[in-house]
Amino acid sequence: MTDRIYYTEPSCRSFEATVTRTGEHDGRPILVLDRTAFYPTSGGQPFDTGTLGSVDVVETIDEGDDIIHVVGASMPAGATVRGEIDWTRRFDHMQQHTGQHVLSAAFDRLFENRTTSFHMGADLSTIDLAREATASDIERALEEANRVVWEDREVSVRFVSADEAARLPLRKEPVREGTLRLVEIKDFDLSACGGTHVHRTGAIGIIAVTNTERFRGGSRLIFVCGARAARAFRHYREAVAGAVRVLSVLPHELPAAIERAQLESKDLRKTVNRLQGLLAGHEAARMLAATPGSEPRVVVEALDGWDAAGLKAIASALAAQSRVVAALVSVGDPTAVVVARSQDVAIDAAKILRTLLDRFGGRGGGRPDLAQGAGLRGRIEEILEVARQLLTA
Ligand SMILES: [Zn+2]
Repeated sequence: MTDRIYYTEPSCRSFEATVTRTGEHDGRPILVLDRTAFYPTSGGQPFDTGTLGSVDVVETIDEGDDIIHVVGASMPAGATVRGEIDWTRRFDHMQQHTGQHVLSAAFDRLFENRTTSFHMGADLSTIDLAREATASDIERALEEANRVVWEDREVSVRFVSADEAARLPLRKEPVREGTLRLVEIKDFDLSACGGTHVHRTGAIGIIAVTNTERFRGGSRLIFVCGARAARAFRHYREAVAGAVRVLSVLPHELPAAIERAQLESKDLRKTVNRLQGLLAGHEAARMLAATPGSEPRVVVEALDGWDAAGLKAIASALAAQSRVVAALVSVGDPTAVVVARSQDVAIDAAKILRTLLDRFGGRGGGRPDLAQGAGLRGRIEEILEVARQLLTA
């Protein structure tokens, strides 16, 4: 059974221990020690990494009685080793974890809104609240939580029996039997937890919520504490600085400026569509004028500077005339194609398109009177020639 140093000395970052067992876990060498300060993944907090002697600890797993250290290389049982925790990683976990206690307690105390689950990721952490929290609830809870952070309250650990625990005002029902480890934030929160926490709330630095979403009838809050909050602030600052530079506005004017730009772009799109429609009519008339009046008239042409919607508009204008079949191809690689015919012509445009796609690749589909494809690869002249043969066959 491994003695868990982190239960009683959460700030212990180096220790001496004896290897009691060696073996493998998923094909990787493992070491079990008589005692360890390495925290294994549990209760929402990720595992510690670091070194045992000259060997890297890449993962720490809780096996019940024993803590397993997944290591880069094995060593003999009986060996004495010095363990060193990667303290940057662990301290970050302690900031986030203690911050979670404070934040959850704030929601519990202010709104009786219970935390149902906690997860700490590599960049962001989440808590799930039983009920939905409004934006103003979140603001109030954050204000309260950060007040407790800045009051630099003591965070203490003690062990109690299940009977004693039953008489204490714990934030949530403990899930474990037997002796319980309680983490107390002075005059603010008392909960059963096996994780590692900072000694005073001041070390959390700051608690910030970066996002919220609805989740299983409640709210999921994405939050960051301490150094992560400072990093998140830097990322937001850079993003805002980039946006204000592009839009030439002040930060608080960004939402309105973006909305304005979107409206303008929508108006322009409408204008472009209208003009493209008019021009498509002219293009169709030009093509028909240049096509000899055989029955039906076959229009096959490559067009530069028209997108798929433009090609379709011209093809539709052509097909609106009596007894016309048309295949229009955009210049470019890959290329787009539209096949269309008048209502009084019997050919199947979709079938002709399929033959073109089989030959030149790309995707598309449509109806017997109008079909559209894109992503064709091949020489434009060749695509035009094949299309002409199919339309005149
Ligand atoms: Zn905890």
